[in-house]
Amino acid sequence: MANPIDWHARARELRIDGRCVIDGERRAAQNGETFACLSPIDGRSLGEVARGREADVDAAVRAARAAFDDGRWADKAPAQRKRILQKFAEKILAAKEELALLETLDMGKPIRDSLAVDVPSASRCIQWYAEAVDKVYDEIAPTPKSGLALITREPMGVIGAIVPWNYPMLMASWKLGPALAAGNSVVLKPSEKSPLTALRLAELAVEAGLPPGVFNVVPGYGHEAGEALALHMQVDAIGFTGSTRTGRRMLDYAGRSNLKRVYNELGGKSAFVVFDDFADVARAARTVAGSMFYNQGESCNAPSRVFVHERIADQFVATVAAEAPKYQPGDPLDAATAMGALVDDTQLKTVMGYIDAGQSEGARIAAGGKRVRTESGGYFVEPTVFDGVANTMKIAREEIFGPVMSVIRFKDEAEGVAMANDSSYGLQASVWSDNINRAHRVARRLRAGTVHVNQYDEDDITVPFGGYKQSGNGRDKSLHAFDKYTELKTTWIRID
Ligand code: NAD
Repeated sequence: MANPIDWHARARELRIDGRCVIDGERRAAQNGETFACLSPIDGRSLGEVARGREADVDAAVRAARAAFDDGRWADKAPAQRKRILQKFAEKILAAKEELALLETLDMGKPIRDSLAVDVPSASRCIQWYAEAVDKVYDEIAPTPKSGLALITREPMGVIGAIVPWNYPMLMASWKLGPALAAGNSVVLKPSEKSPLTALRLAELAVEAGLPPGVFNVVPGYGHEAGEALALHMQVDAIGFTGSTRTGRRMLDYAGRSNLKRVYNELGGKSAFVVFDDFADVARAARTVAGSMFYNQGESCNAPSRVFVHERIADQFVATVAAEAPKYQPGDPLDAATAMGALVDDTQLKTVMGYIDAGQSEGARIAAGGKRVRTESGGYFVEPTVFDGVANTMKIAREEIFGPVMSVIRFKDEAEGVAMANDSSYGLQASVWSDNINRAHRVARRLRAGTVHVNQYDEDDITVPFGGYKQSGNGRDKSLHAFDKYTELKTTWIRID
């Protein structure tokens, strides 16, 4: 058997290059400014990263525009684009250990997840859209014989992608896959909290043969690089993933500039509804713990509001509370660790603030609730379960984005559904029932982009991902994502 990888030794050897990738080459920020890239595992700096500002964003957008306008990517035969993107996907997999290490050091998730989930999923996403390039057909409309109307899908031009820190590589690939496959150029602005894998992805894309300028990365802060990208007059669409607060800003930037298309994938407060006719209460409890505490609870679709029928609630809470310690935070570079560090000290304070708020509003901690591993210098919080939560409490209404679950009791179906839908968010939901009529009925009534029945953790690149209400608009993943990055053109041809 191969020796296990010594991730600490690999981390010590790591040298990062934090410069932008513009027009196929590495470039420092024009004014030479950098910021320290801090690891949430121990609070130490991993190295300096370019602090991109308006001038750097402008250079990247110009490079992307030139690449789009001269057709060096969009005009390639679909089979050629497909081959290059396939190679890009292969290169991501080939670099899996390096990318996984960067992701874990940069944002704190366990190395086993970076390796087993984030890197392969990012690669599969690019691979899947590569496969789609020569399989999406244009249409001919049913018109009178004297005319022919072609309906063609055309790339939009320059796409600005602005992504968060919780799944840095994966969120980038959800934008890159469909945008590049459709023939666009992309300028990606990763989160200032986790810029490292995005920069490596751009290098790998160039190595795979993607022409210079087609995929550019400008790291930097949201109010500097992010704002400049979202306001740029030469950007045709923004693919944004992040908080609802910043999503609102994206709409404002578009209104103040060129009315670029804005696709927002935003926050969530997903409901997990368990009825008393579901026999395997323990399985429901295990599933909610696994889904809630995965990625330190820093998932937009974390099932953070758990509605349980009052008749089974005590049993459910006891089982979840017994499950929670299995996700006790550990060293993210240890392959056995199931939960890692929160992304930074700000996030730590936010999460601890919500834990305090829950207690002062009268909810009871059934598991966890404390900061741990303080001596490491990193930001670790125990998997936390609140019982006795009312749907009106702050911990039930606001997205916490940490390992904190709220259990809320309900007395009948009408109340359970009404409370589940009583949220400004609508990203995902789940219903647990052994009554097929009820399962279908409730699944239909839950206002969310994805509804799970008797499960929560299924996901695949083939299905759309996105939310109702203030969880956003548009969908990532699946063939539907092409709608975001393509224009439909009608061409009438007279043939009499
Ligand atoms: P955020 O909104 O703070 O930042 C997201 C990105 O926007 C970052 O790159 C940031 O630098 C940039 N940004 C911030 N302020 C900006 C500004 N004023 N102008 C332009 N750009 C700006 O979000 P976050 O804290 O990085 O991510 C967490 C959020 O992302 C959560 O709400 C989570 O639910 C959401 N999320 C949603 C999905 C989804 O698919 N719906 C997936 C992952 C994360």
